[in-house]
Amino acid sequence: RILLTTVLNLQRESIKGIAITVQDITREVELNEAKSQFISNISHELRTPLFNIKTYIETLHDYGEDLAVEERQEFLATVNNETDRLTRLVNDVLDLSKLESGRTYSFNGVDLAQALEQTLRTYQLNAKDKGIQLVQEVTPNLPLVMGNYDLLLQVFGNLIGNALKFTPAGGKVAIRAYQLDPQPIISGSAADNNNTKQEHYFNSVSYDNNYHEQVRIEISDTGIGIAPEDQQAIFDRFFRVENRVHTLEGTGLGLSIVRNIMERHHSQVHLVSEVGVGTTFWFDLTIVNDEISSVAADRIED
Ligand code: ADP
Repeated sequence: RILLTTVLNLQRESIKGIAITVQDITREVELNEAKSQFISNISHELRTPLFNIKTYIETLHDYGEDLAVEERQEFLATVNNETDRLTRLVNDVLDLSKLESGRTYSFNGVDLAQALEQTLRTYQLNAKDKGIQLVQEVTPNLPLVMGNYDLLLQVFGNLIGNALKFTPAGGKVAIRAYQLDPQPIISGSAADNNNTKQEHYFNSVSYDNNYHEQVRIEISDTGIGIAPEDQQAIFDRFFRVENRVHTLEGTGLGLSIVRNIMERHHSQVHLVSEVGVGTTFWFDLTIVNDEISSVAADRIED
C-alpha cells in the first residue's frame, strides 16, 4: 500500500509539474503575442508620420516653384509637426521599453511640492494658450515620498498633458497633494518576485512597521470625460478612445507609461470619470520614514 501511495503521489507531482510547465508556455506564448502586437502597432504608428513627411517633401521638391509662398509655408509646417510627432513616438516607445526591460532606477526621498511646481511651470503657458485655468493645491510642508524624481515628473507631465488636451477652453485642471491618514499594512501586499533594490525598501517598510503613511496626488479636469467601458482600456498601449478628433499630439502610450512607472513605485493609478463632466486620476506614494530610510538607505542606491 505504501508503494502504491508513493507511486500515486509521484504521479500527482509529475502531473503538477506538467501543469506548471503548460502554464509557463502559455505565459510565454502570451508574452510573444503581446510583443509582436506591440511591434506591429509601432510600425503602423511610425509609418504614418514618415509617409506624410515623405509626401510633403517630395511635393515641395518636385512642384515647390509652382506653389504660392503660403502653401510652401503650410507644407513645411506640416513636415515640422509630423517630425515632432515622430520624435514623441520614438521617445515614448524608448521610455516604455526601458521601463519594461526591468532595469533598476534609483529611489530617493522626493519633494513633491518641488516636482509639482516644476511640472506646473512647464505646462502653465500651454494652459494659458488654451484658456484653461491650471491650479495646484498642495498641502504645505509635505513629507518626502519614496520615488524616482524623473519618473515622477514624467507621470505628472503625462497626466497634466492629457488633462489639458481633453479639456475645452474655459475649463479647469487642478493638481492636489495631501497626506492620508496612516494605512494598516496588508501583509505581503508590497512584495513581489522582482528582486530589485527599491523592492527592499518597500519590503522593509512592511516588515518593520504596522502601518505606512502615504501622500495622495490627484489630477482632475473639467474635460470631456471617459466612458465606463473605456476606463480600463485607456491604460493599454496605443489605445485611444474612438470617435474623437485627435490632434497630432497623442501617441496612445502616455498612460501605459504612467501605469508602468506607478507599478515601479508599488502603487496603482486610479480614475473616476464622467462623460461631459471631467476626470480625476489619482495615486498614492509612500512617505519616507526616517527610521526605515536609514535601514534601507544602502539598499536603495542605484
Ligand atoms: P494619448 O497620447 O492619446 O493621450 P494616453 O495613453 O495618454 O495616450 O491616453 C489614452 C487615451 O485615453 C487618450 O487618447 C484619450 O482618449 C483618453 N484620455 C486620457 N486622459 C484623458 C482625460 N484626462 N480626459 C479624457 N480622456 C482621456
